[in-house]
Amino acid sequence: MTATEARILEFRMQGSASEPYEVRFTRAADASRASCTCEAGAHHQLCKHRTMLLAGDVTALVSGNAQQVAELLPMIAGSDAEAAIAHLATAENALEVAKHELSRHRKALARILNHRLPDGEPSP
Ligand SMILES: [Zn+2]
Repeated sequence: MTATEARILEFRMQGSASEPYEVRFTRAADASRASCTCEAGAHHQLCKHRTMLLAGDVTALVSGNAQQVAELLPMIAGSDAEAAIAHLATAENALEVAKHELSRHRKALARILNHRLPDGEPSP
């Protein structure tokens, strides 16, 4: 691949519409781009079809080229999108940890609030 030659990977993802969505990843020089024909993609929002493929999730893939999903991250490496993808993954992991902590603290508070007082102690 020369510096000016673009590399393209295309996938079809089954979403909520009857027709699968077309997802296209392009790499040219140090720029990575990805488009999707779904509603969110048409509005320039980060849709799950692109994030699923970036995460290696092929459960909605209907184009039969699952082996090419493994080529996505190497294709994006060194591009402008690589750090943004890593930051998103870090934030998603931190969110999962925070959700777990929130659940643990909610349960701990419920245990305390619901703990029966010994007989003879005044009720709050
Ligand atoms: Zn999409």
